[in-house]
Amino acid sequence: MEYSYPKLFIGGRWQEPSTTDVLAVHSAATEEQIGQVPASAPADVDNAVAAAGAALVDPAWAGISQAARADLIERFADAVDKRADERATIVSRQNGMPIAIAGMAEGPMPALLLRYFAGLIRDASLEERRVAFPGPGTTVVRKEPVGVVAAIAPWNFPSVLAAFKIAPALAAGCSVVLKPSPETVLDSFLLADAAIEAGLPAGVLNVVTGGPDIGKYLVAHEGVQKVAFTGSTAAGRQIGEVCGRLLRPVTLELGGKSAALILDDADITSTVTGLATASLLNSGQTCYMSTRILAPKGRYQDFVDAITAMVGSLPVGDPLDPSTFIGPLVSEKQRDRVLSYVDAGRNEGATLTTGGGRPSGLDRGWFVEPTVFANTDNTTTIAREEIFGPVLTVMPYDGEAEAISMANDSEFGLGGTVWTADPSRGLDVARQIQTGSFGVNSYALDFGSPFGGVKSSGLGRELGPEGLAAYYSLKSIFLAE
Ligand code: NAD
Repeated sequence: MEYSYPKLFIGGRWQEPSTTDVLAVHSAATEEQIGQVPASAPADVDNAVAAAGAALVDPAWAGISQAARADLIERFADAVDKRADERATIVSRQNGMPIAIAGMAEGPMPALLLRYFAGLIRDASLEERRVAFPGPGTTVVRKEPVGVVAAIAPWNFPSVLAAFKIAPALAAGCSVVLKPSPETVLDSFLLADAAIEAGLPAGVLNVVTGGPDIGKYLVAHEGVQKVAFTGSTAAGRQIGEVCGRLLRPVTLELGGKSAALILDDADITSTVTGLATASLLNSGQTCYMSTRILAPKGRYQDFVDAITAMVGSLPVGDPLDPSTFIGPLVSEKQRDRVLSYVDAGRNEGATLTTGGGRPSGLDRGWFVEPTVFANTDNTTTIAREEIFGPVLTVMPYDGEAEAISMANDSEFGLGGTVWTADPSRGLDVARQIQTGSFGVNSYALDFGSPFGGVKSSGLGRELGPEGLAAYYSLKSIFLAE
């Protein structure tokens, strides 16, 4: 076994798991088992939550200055960075992410996120004195860590999305119990190695393993004070219900079905080139992808032809080959789910213009051909449901108002893009879209700005100062004159 971990990272060290059960990890490209880790039982979650609770009152973590905390997080970032190439490769092997993308995202971004949030707290004050209104008196408004954070991550960008939670949580002085997805659990063991090397105080970061059952147990655990979740809308709703009952703060980053609005003045070549990344990054397994492409009626066929040619030419293959743009999907289940949507598209009468099956010559691995459907409308299953694979739907619209109304006619609101020769027109369209994030002639994540969804795409925001604020609890201390 290439990657075999016999113990769990709890309380700052590798600990014997409470059972002998294991989780197997497979290569998305070869289907072979490449690793194994212990499967956590509820008793292991209890230990991890207790260790995280103890860290909150440990002077080595709770009693240090903001600058000392920032230093520790930066030391952690250095150790995380040392493992960037190894982590990118492991992620690529686990979930099929093309190495060119893993090398830009899963490798370097976790450390960048840690450094960004360390920078936000280094010189920031945790207390602010306000003149009481209507007075007299003064109030000290104090930020305190919200407590033990249950961080639950999906498999599509496992290390980056774990860092979306770990970095602000640590910056706020919280402690974390991370539960990665079972498909992509190995990279979190590299984060644990880095935590040990950096000397993070015991219990500040803990990793438990398992699927939805262990996730549910962690979310409802009485020792947890906040839940940060990225994953499907269905699981997010369940978690939201539990947290509602417990009155436990929760951040939910969920699914999407974002629109690309191609305006009538858009340049065809640059638009279609940009759509490759805006619609199909990580083989379409990215939550904010613009997978509903809206093209102006008068130029519809030209755009369908150009998008079909672009998608049909994308290199499909071994995710470890730097020239690959479309790798395999994460699992057999996910491949079959995506292929069932392709069947739905055919059955609903949409025109398949490229792809539509498993690529020839790639019998091993969970590959799906990059696929385009045209001549359909916004009422079909392929236009409404999140597919989470390399499948695009191109639909015609008549006039900008109709394009905006079609973009907004969705259960989701996470990302989206507009493509135009006139950026100010693009910004005007962006203002009218019901979404948490949007791009004009491109889409990029900005760590310094809030990221999240509206409608069924989620609750709350990660990233930026707003993302840090979600890990504080506010206390107002009134001082009599
Ligand atoms: P998933 O919801 O099946 O699982 C996500 C994680 O939650 C896993 O670790 C899983 O074990 C755990 N889990 C599942 N059900 C749970 C429950 N009831 N209680 C506690 N934990 C539970 O999602 P997935 O298939 O791993 O990921 C794909 C989904 O994630 C897509 O819908 C995608 O859009 C979404 N996603 C959203 C964002 C975002 O930022 N909005 C980013 C990436 C992925």
